[in-house]
Amino acid sequence: MIQLYQPLSYMGLVYREIRQSTLDIETMFEILGKSPEVADRPGAKPLIVREGGLRLDHVSFHYDERRPILKDVSFEVPPGKTVAIVGPSGAGKSTLSRLIFRFYEPSSGHITIDGQDIGAVTQVSLRGALGIVPQDTVLFNDTLDYNIRYGRPDATDAEVREAAHLAQIDGFIESAPGGYQAAVGERGLKLSGGEKQRVAIARTILKAPPILVLDEATSALDSFTERAIQGALDQVARGRTTLVIAHRLSTIVGADEILVLDKGEIVERGTHAELVAQQGIYASMWSRQHDVELAEEILRRAAAEE
Ligand code: ATP
Repeated sequence: MIQLYQPLSYMGLVYREIRQSTLDIETMFEILGKSPEVADRPGAKPLIVREGGLRLDHVSFHYDERRPILKDVSFEVPPGKTVAIVGPSGAGKSTLSRLIFRFYEPSSGHITIDGQDIGAVTQVSLRGALGIVPQDTVLFNDTLDYNIRYGRPDATDAEVREAAHLAQIDGFIESAPGGYQAAVGERGLKLSGGEKQRVAIARTILKAPPILVLDEATSALDSFTERAIQGALDQVARGRTTLVIAHRLSTIVGADEILVLDKGEIVERGTHAELVAQQGIYASMWSRQHDVELAEEILRRAAAEE
C-alpha cells in the first residue's frame, strides 16, 4: 500500500492540473465568442497559408510587466510536422497557445505563419487557418449533425459522415435514437467527456485547418476511450502542422520535437530519445509517469478481479 501511495498522490496532482487547464481552454472559447481584445491593425491583410509553417522568434510575454511569463521563446513547427510542449503547471503552455490565437500580442518578438506576422493579418483569416481540439468541449444545444457541420457549414452529408468515421464517433451516432439528427445538450442526449471530444475532433476534421493546436486527451478517461481519442487525434494531425500541449508523455514519443517549458523558458528540446538520454527534467517526468501508469494498471487489474 505504501508503495502505491506515491504514484496515487501524483495521479491526484496530474488530475488537478488537467482540471485547471480544462477551465483554461473553456475560457479561451469564451474569449473566442466575444469581440476580440486585440483588434485588426489598419490595413490588415488576410493571411495566405501556403505550407502552414509556424514560427516563434524570440517571443517574450507578460500579463503584468512585473512578472514575465514567457522569456525569449523561439521554435518552429515545420509544415506537416508535430511539436509537443510539456512542462510543469504554470510554465506558460496555455499562454503560448493564446498568443498563437492572438488573444494577446507578444511583449517582444514575432509569431509568423508562412513568413507573415500574425499581428499584421486579419483575425478572421488567422482563426480560419487554426484549429483547436480542446480537452473538454462545450457542445451546442442542437443536433449531432449541427455540432459536426459547424466546422464547415457547406459540407455534404457524406463529408459529415466521413469526418465522424475518422473521429471514431460514427458507431455511437448511428446507435443513438435519431442518429445524426439526435439533439444533444440540456434537453437531449447526454454525452460523456470522451464522446464530446470525438464530436469536436470530427468538427475539426471537417474544418481541415492547415495548423492545429491540440490540448491532449486526459488521463481521467478510461483506457478504451483514451485509445479511441488518441486514434482520432492522430488522424486529424496527419499531414498537418501540429502543436500539442501534452499531459501524457506516452502519446508524444513520436513527435518531431519536444520542448520542455519551465518558468517561461525552453529548458530542454529534442526528440524523445534525445531527451531521455539527457537525464534532465524530461527524463524524470518520463520515469514518474511510468510509475503512474503502473499504478493505473494495478488498479485496473484489482477492479477486474472484484
Ligand atoms: P497548466 O499546465 O497548469 O495549464 P500552463 O503551463 O498552461 O499551466 P499558463 O496557464 O500559461 O501555464 O500560465 C502561466 C502563468 O501565467 C501562471 O503563473 C499564471 O498564473 C499566469 N496567468 C495565466 N493567465 C493569466 C492572466 N489572464 N492574467 C495574469 N496572469 C495569468
